[in-house]
Amino acid sequence: MGNQENTLEEGNNDAKSESLDFIREIIANDLSSGKHEAPVTRFPPEPNGYIHIGHAKSICLNFGLSKENKGGACHLRFDDTNPVKEDSEYVDSIKQDVSWLGFEWGDNLFFASDYFDKLYDFAQKLIKEGKAYVCDLSLDEIAEHRGSPKTPGKKSPYRDRSPEENIDLFKRMRDGEFDDGTKVLRAKIDMTSPNLHMRDPVLYRIRKIAHHRTGDKWCIYPMYDFTHCLSDSIEGITHSLCTLEFEVHRPLYDWVLAKLSVECHPRQIEFARLNLTYTVLSKRKLLVLVEEAYVSGWDDPRMPTVSGLRRRGFTPASIKAFCHAIGVTKFNGLTDVALLEHSLRQDLNETVERRLAVLNPIKVVITNFQEERVEDLEAVNNPKNPEAGTRIMPFTREIYIEKDDFMEDPPNKFFRLGPGREVRLRFAYFITCQEVIKNDAGEIVELHCTYDPETRGGNAPDGRKVKGTIHWVSAAKAFETKVRLYDRLFTTEDPNKEEDGKTFLDYINESSLEIIADAKLEPSLSEATPGESFQFERLGYFCADLKDSENGTPVFNRTTTLRDTWSKQKNKS
Ligand code: ATP
Ligand code: MG
Repeated sequence: MGNQENTLEEGNNDAKSESLDFIREIIANDLSSGKHEAPVTRFPPEPNGYIHIGHAKSICLNFGLSKENKGGACHLRFDDTNPVKEDSEYVDSIKQDVSWLGFEWGDNLFFASDYFDKLYDFAQKLIKEGKAYVCDLSLDEIAEHRGSPKTPGKKSPYRDRSPEENIDLFKRMRDGEFDDGTKVLRAKIDMTSPNLHMRDPVLYRIRKIAHHRTGDKWCIYPMYDFTHCLSDSIEGITHSLCTLEFEVHRPLYDWVLAKLSVECHPRQIEFARLNLTYTVLSKRKLLVLVEEAYVSGWDDPRMPTVSGLRRRGFTPASIKAFCHAIGVTKFNGLTDVALLEHSLRQDLNETVERRLAVLNPIKVVITNFQEERVEDLEAVNNPKNPEAGTRIMPFTREIYIEKDDFMEDPPNKFFRLGPGREVRLRFAYFITCQEVIKNDAGEIVELHCTYDPETRGGNAPDGRKVKGTIHWVSAAKAFETKVRLYDRLFTTEDPNKEEDGKTFLDYINESSLEIIADAKLEPSLSEATPGESFQFERLGYFCADLKDSENGTPVFNRTTTLRDTWSKQKNKS
């Protein structure tokens, strides 16, 4: 990882002094040599799930390139060739997520299914030229015939059908005459190729299933390797960027385009996919988490999906900064999720206002403060940004503080409250603990303290110092609501490892969600709007949930704690 020190600029426009990654270098060369006037890229999701932070990496790269280069464009193309798993719910969510990240496709919204007619024509052309044939082997038999990297494959007995017979059979496949799995169309390439993808790959299969856009019009569907390169070509893509596992498919990408003599032959370039610690990023696995109710949905705030991150309180800027920091390389690796959290904290620390909230309360009675009195105190909204101004916090005789901020028998280094000790209440007064009230079971039920009226605002006129400052909320005026504390969804760095017969489900963190039913928040938080973020001082960053903040009562999600493990690691190394 090259440039973790970057700031939260959008994209890489400002990055003139940084060296270009290998893809940007290729594109810069293609522009200066006059091969292309501007890059045309595409982001090609399959609408079979919600997009995740790995997709965000691809989005930032593809859409970033179009933003950085004058005249550039990035297409949003749904790669919807498999009717079995695809759904328009996913199409809608993907559009929403790409927009939310701050990217625009303008008029360039496409669906591979829009090309089914053209693809059918292309297939016919291959057949006529003797480059494709209808094969009656089952998929299992085809796999068996394919051989292994060390042994050559076996030719299909149907390989030498005449183009006329193939054209006829292919048409009858399209017309629904044959059952699923009884026939496929295959490219006629080389059954001895060292690259298994070149051993007569399947181009079309029969699938008598309605498609989310074309309905029952088709019962044959083109395969990815046939569809993708031709969709790129039809749209005039210049650079087709995909993840490393497609490197072995590249000869087939080029073969199809060369055999069909298309005018536009895009260049496929592969880069490493994002893998994150404590996270699974396969849509198949994410779907299991949703369907088997390990989480509340694709947008559960613990999910690495863009919609989950949004509900958790991530900002587009923080996600883009993270994608910029990890850069683009040819090497697969495992990125520390702490880096993602670090990007988030850097952004929130600058931008969000501070508030006080008590999550695990104990009551404090200030015995020398009048019973009905409410004193309005001024609290600073963001010490990083004077323009954020101040707000009013009501101070009353009874307040809440965190249980953890009191110890009956504190060690020397405990600078918070203890019997006879004095602390500062943030934005308020010094208080001293005079008495600990217990119930019959010996449990502490409340603390009786006195305040020093001379210390309003947090300083003593006699210059006396206190070491600790703690947060508090008025008991009479507190806004009580639900606060949800989220932790990582997995207990191990690499939940994708499959050792000792275990799967990712065996590494689920049973305590990834803790719900506090009635946290005590300062009253101004009752007006938070869904999606609004705050730092709760000393506790972390929290945001009003986008979905569950009903009837004007916000529910808060903990976005992240204040502790930054990434900065720590960096300082160590
Ligand atoms: P998954 O493995 O999660 O199912 P996928 O690759 O099948 O993902 P697609 O919808 O086909 O999902 O992906 C759309 C684009 O996003 C592709 O270009 C793909 O390479 C890219 N992409 C998917 N996952 C990642 C990742 N982890 N890192 C970077 N790019 C990714
Ligand atoms: Mg895919």
